[in-house]
Amino acid sequence: MPSLPASADAAAPSHEGRRVNLLGLDADGLARLCAQWGQKPFRARQLMRWLHQRGQADFDAMTDLAREFRELLRERAVVEAPAVISDHVSADGTRKWLLDVGGGNAVETVFIPETDRGTLCVSTQAGCAVNCMFCSTGKQGFSRNLDTHEIVAQLWHANRALGAYAREKGVAEDRVISNVVFMGMGEPLQNYAATLTALRIMLDDNAYGLSRRRVTVSTSGVVPMIDRLREDCPVALAVSLHAPNDALRDELVPLNRKYPLAELMAACSRYLESAPRDFITFEYVMLDGVNDSDRHAEELVELVRTVPCKFNLIPFNPFPGSGLRKSRPERIKAFAQRLVDAGIVTTVRRTRGDDIDAACGQLAGEVQDRTRLRERMGARGRRVIAVSEAR
Ligand code: SAH
Ligand code: SF4
Repeated sequence: MPSLPASADAAAPSHEGRRVNLLGLDADGLARLCAQWGQKPFRARQLMRWLHQRGQADFDAMTDLAREFRELLRERAVVEAPAVISDHVSADGTRKWLLDVGGGNAVETVFIPETDRGTLCVSTQAGCAVNCMFCSTGKQGFSRNLDTHEIVAQLWHANRALGAYAREKGVAEDRVISNVVFMGMGEPLQNYAATLTALRIMLDDNAYGLSRRRVTVSTSGVVPMIDRLREDCPVALAVSLHAPNDALRDELVPLNRKYPLAELMAACSRYLESAPRDFITFEYVMLDGVNDSDRHAEELVELVRTVPCKFNLIPFNPFPGSGLRKSRPERIKAFAQRLVDAGIVTTVRRTRGDDIDAACGQLAGEVQDRTRLRERMGARGRRVIAVSEAR
């Protein structure tokens, strides 16, 4: 890991003062930077490959760049990721990093290995302003948007930590990130500009080359931004539904008061005109006695009648003080069956990384008390709390 401070902004290239963090620049941004510095356009592509395909942070190691260009880069640019506060590996192989984004804020990144893919779950904000009733991130309140470089750095760092840059040496399949989901802390569509640039970098063939189908943005339903994403960079879309009617959704997902279900469903239909997949994934957290009855399932079937979709039922992950309980397994099964009977493909999310609190809604449970976080990080603001290798 580079040891430079984590909180520098991915500022516009600056000639005086702050150096630009190259992890925050997409192909256009790097090309503009190269042009400003009197470099040929192909230098931008070379740079992008060094940064993202090889995970290189040391300009001197970028041997095919002219020496003068490397000197310019050393003077004016940095490649830096947030410092790692902790790194945990669960018994099931799920790995969770807690990253210091400065000012007493931390965000989490989770890697979930599966037999046919490796999924990285990234965060887009420190905290979240939507304040869903069942979400511990929401309960922390909103601190700030992450910059593009802080979003991309999660993928960059995870690839380095997983040894994926040694791919040519034959890295094990379960170490490779094939999918990225924006399902960590924060509402990606309330941090639209940074999320969009991060998506462009993730999809770029000179960077990570991920296909649109394998990158999923999850949203609580920011309708105008769903439309923007459809135009700017349609990737797979997951919508956090959680309720079949406005009265209940207003309570569970307060953003519903601004963008009610009818508008959300219409936005989903519009999105599908450009989406890389021909369905929307609806996420639905299963809350005992709140949204999990057969009646709710029937209402749900009616609600989504015109939207090609799949359902992902998420057993609620309790956290202290939530006042909510997860639905019983038999209830979840019966609920799922109602959807399946109506012809909707439905999965129940397996809880992964339970032993390291890596599951949805538990992210950064450790940092709910920011004072404690600061104490743990110490005066230097950087310290590894714990590294537990449970495998
Ligand atoms: N803000 C975005 C993405 C991050 S949340 C969104 O809401 O979609 C990712 C998923 O985790 C969402 O579907 C969210 O509803 C779910 N989630 C949040 N808290 C949870 C909890 N305590 N238990 C289970 N799922 C939760
Ligand atoms: Fe924010 Fe998503 Fe949590 Fe709601 S579920 S508070 S939108 S992170």
